[in-house]
Amino acid sequence: MMKLCSGCNAVFEGRRWIYNENLHKKLSGKSNVELDLCTGCEKIKKKTIDGVVLIKGDFLKKHEDEALNLIHNVAEKKRKRNVAARIFRMRETPEGFLIETTDRALAELIGKEFEGAFSGKLDIRWPEGEKFVRVNWERD
Ligand SMILES: [Zn+2]
Repeated sequence: MMKLCSGCNAVFEGRRWIYNENLHKKLSGKSNVELDLCTGCEKIKKKTIDGVVLIKGDFLKKHEDEALNLIHNVAEKKRKRNVAARIFRMRETPEGFLIETTDRALAELIGKEFEGAFSGKLDIRWPEGEKFVRVNWERD
């Protein structure tokens, strides 16, 4: 039995969920497929946060679009390789722009891509007693 994710374009193939928009579209509505939630949508449903990224600094005021594009591009690329790696939520906070991810590696990758694209100061830590990685990026 083929399984399709009801929350996104992931398809259960072989032993794991993979992101496959075309196959998802092709199999949608067929009688021999079952709907389920992929590992990524499951994590979002359960609000599983494995990474918190805080980006801040005056640089962002003038480069907001570039920064948002970068986040989206990194998230899309990562999701195609690993459906469980997703952005859970993004929001403006008094401290800066906060991105919560369902995956530790995705949070680290966003920080590294920011450093690669815009320089700035990157700090990645795993605070004791916390369940997620904290990534801070800053440029004034
Ligand atoms: Zn899904």
